[in-house]
This record gives sequence, C-alpha cells and structure tokens, in this order.
Amino acid sequence: MDLLNANDRPGQYPESYYAATANRVDACPELDADTDCDVCIVGAGYTGLSAALHCAEQGLDTVLLDAHRIGWGASGRNGGQLGSGQRRDQEDLEAMVGADKAHRLWDLAEESKQLVHALIDRHQIDCDIRPGILYADHRARFVAGTRDYVNKLRSDYGYEKLRFVGSEEIRSILGTDAYFGGMLDEGAGHLHPLNLALGLGRAAAAAGVRIFEKTEVTGLEPGEKARINTRKGSVRARFALLACNGYIGALDADVSGHVMPINNFIIATAPLPSDLARSLISNNAAVADSRNVINYYRLSADNRLLFGGGENYGYRFPPDIPAFVRKYMLRIYPQLEDTAIDFGWGGTLGITVNRMPHLARLAPNILSASGYSGHGVGMATLCGKLAAEAIGGTAARFDLMASIPTPRFPGGGALRTPLLALAMVYYALKDRL
Ligand SMILES: Cc1cc2nc3c(=O)[nH]c(=O)nc-3n(C[C@H](O)[C@H](O)[C@H](O)COP(=O)(O)OP(=O)(O)OC[C@H]3O[C@@H](n4cnc5c(N)ncnc54)[C@H](O)[C@@H]3O)c2cc1C
Repeated sequence: MDLLNANDRPGQYPESYYAATANRVDACPELDADTDCDVCIVGAGYTGLSAALHCAEQGLDTVLLDAHRIGWGASGRNGGQLGSGQRRDQEDLEAMVGADKAHRLWDLAEESKQLVHALIDRHQIDCDIRPGILYADHRARFVAGTRDYVNKLRSDYGYEKLRFVGSEEIRSILGTDAYFGGMLDEGAGHLHPLNLALGLGRAAAAAGVRIFEKTEVTGLEPGEKARINTRKGSVRARFALLACNGYIGALDADVSGHVMPINNFIIATAPLPSDLARSLISNNAAVADSRNVINYYRLSADNRLLFGGGENYGYRFPPDIPAFVRKYMLRIYPQLEDTAIDFGWGGTLGITVNRMPHLARLAPNILSASGYSGHGVGMATLCGKLAAEAIGGTAARFDLMASIPTPRFPGGGALRTPLLALAMVYYALKDRL
C-alpha cells in the first residue's frame, strides 16, 4: 500500500491537536522546474530537516523536497517524547554489539537530546519543551529488573538523571493503580513535535535551504550526479539523502526491505481543569508504559491529555480513531469516562527488525537514514546531522550507526500486511500475560 497517499489528504496536515496549535509558517512552493544543487534531500521530517540545516551550514547548496508539508509525516504527529538512549536498552546493545560500541551508542543518544535542546535554543523554537519521562511497569514482575537497570545506568554509564520509582510513589504521581513501579528520567523530556519540525524548517530556510512542499519524488537515478525526479521537475545533485522513513514505499526497495511501516494513533482530550490534569500526572512528565503495544501519554501545554496507544492490524487507519484509542485511555484513567475527545489522528513510523535505526549508503553519493522504531525525536534529528557530516566528508559517526546490522524483514512487500498482523497479535498477546 502507498502509505504516502493512503490515509491522509494530500498536502494537508491531519486534523491533530498539533496542527491546530501549530506556529504559523508560510507554505513553501512546489518544484515545477529542473534544478541543480550540491545536496538533495527527500523527506522533510526531523531527519531531512536536520540534514538540510547542517548541510547548508557547511555552505552546501541544499534542496529539500517533501511530498506533502514540512513535518507532515511522523515528525509532526508523534508522542513528543524525547527519550534517552537508543530504542533498545543498554543491556541488549551490549549483547548485540559489545560493551565498547554500546557505550558509543549511548553517547550518541545523549548527544541527540543535547542537539534537540541546542537547536531549540539557537533557533528560538517555541515547542513547549518540558523535562521528564516516567517509564511505568504494568506488571509487578518487571519492577526488580527496572531497579537493576537504573543501577546499571548510574554505575556503568554515569547517568545520574534516572531514578527508581516504587509502587507507592508511582501511584502518587499518576492518578491510576495500573502500575507497580518504574523509573523517572529527568534528563529526558517532551515537546510539541510539529512545532519542533516547523522551527527546524524555518531555521533551514534561513540557512539557505531551498524547500519544496507538495513535491513527491517519483524516482531516483544514481550517477555521478544523482537525478531525483518529481512530477513537474527534477533535481540533479552531487549527493542525495533519502529521509522518507515509514513512507519510503517503492522509492527504494532495499531500504523498504529493512524498514517496515507501522501505524500508531493518538487522541487529545478537551482541556482539563488544572486540578484534574495534575491528578493524572502530578509532575508533568511524559509517561510510557512497559507494554509491547505501548501506552504513552502526557499533558499538553493547555492541559489536555494526549494519549497514544492501541494495536492495528492493517495499514488503513481505523475509521473512528478517537473511539479506537479512547478504550485504552479509559483502562488507565477510568475517571475520564465523561471527558470529551477533541482530536484523534494516526501516523506511520518505520520500524526495523532489531529496533535500531537503519542508516545505509545506497551508492557512494546516495545515503538513507530511517527506521528509528518509535524513538526518533532525538535520534532522527541526530542521524540527519550525521548524514550531513558524511556528505561533508566526515563519515565516521554515520558509519558507526550504519555498522549496526538491521536485518531484512522476511518476505518483502507482498507479505507486509500479514506479517504486521501476525506481529501485532503476538505482541498484544504477550502484553496480556
Ligand atoms: C503516532 C506516533 C508516535 C510516535 N511517538 C514518538 C515519541 O514519542 N518519541 C519518539 O522519539 N518517536 C516517536 N515516534 C517516531 C518519530 O516520530 C519518528 O521516528 C521520526 O519522526 C522520524 O522522522 P523522519 O524524518 O525520519 O520521518 P518522517 O517524519 O516520517 O518524515 C518522512 C517524510 O518523508 C516524506 N516522503 C516520503 N516519501 C517521499 C517521497 N517519495 N517524495 C517526497 N517526500 C517523501 C513524507 O512526506 C514525510 O514528511 C512516533 C511516531 C508516530 C507515528
């Protein structure tokens, strides 16, 4: 299925809380002629925006193309959680790539959070950034492992901003008895994701990037100068970067063999009275729970509960997203039974088999970065910067990420929907055990 055009109105943001509260920006033109440049980037999410900004800052003539709008994809629709580390925990990474590389991956992830903060500060991006993510265990048997993991990060990685939270404390922070313990990461945070993307777009344009919206790339011809084709024009570029994530589709079969799209859904309640809002999450942290089909939620700047969750077995968005997600919210917060849901929207993210980003060199002058597996607010922003470094001639950090093997999904495109359904049933069942 062509997810770039399947679930949304072309060239328009979904009717989300984020779009309704987006900072105003002028639309960019559509590409309607042929042009030349040093670097052409396909996809204006965090990966593409960060890459474009960092390329332009090196003095490279940079063109950024998006089929729809800046931040139209996952970057403008996500849960806004700026988490620490990689998507996989450090124990898994040590087993996967050894202690030394696991430490370097941790350092890169720390840098990704700092990069987001630095970009927000430097470009004065108004995106409601707040500290704190609380990871909540939905099974009592997970709590001992959480305590051990906190100790490990403090002792082996010197990460002091994480602390264990016991059952009594978690119930005093969250107005629910759904959890048995967890960990609070004060070094992580949450933000308005679309406003981050729009701010990066503004910064990239100010740095000289030529941005074209409503410009779908229909094909890519490799060569000394790559040729990027769109419906009304083409770009010839010394370097190209594919930053299409879950929407890559048929544009590159190799990347789409490694990065599988998956949909996820969020609702926003009506603004809550501040005492009710504080009774749900007293410390204003974002929350992510321990389910495989994860519930994640937080309060918005205007005191709505933004709640993400739910499993979906195909690539079509459910017809009634508010009703679809609300039942998961009510399992955690039954006290919101009478609260109106103002917005519900879906988005497509790219996941990999081992949940590590897929960075690849498709040709000497064509790169791709995607597959952040639900952990892209920081990592996509950083990987865009790493791609810009590689294009500028310093490839060591891009190559480090690219050296983490992300196996192909079995079966190719034809088996995608049944594979996805199977995986979702498996994970949903595991959560119930
Ligand atoms: C519902 C949801 C919740 C999430 N929650 C979190 C979270 O809380 N924390 C977190 O860290 N991560 C989260 N993620 C993941 C995170 O949003 C992504 O990892 C990140 O935004 C990826 O950025 P990107 O730039 O690589 O891709 P995207 O933001 O998806 O951008 C890809 C862009 O490429 C464009 N494109 C694709 N193909 C073409 C083409 N042929 N021609 C032109 N343009 C094209 C698309 O229009 C799109 O704008 C979530 C994702 C979703 C969907």
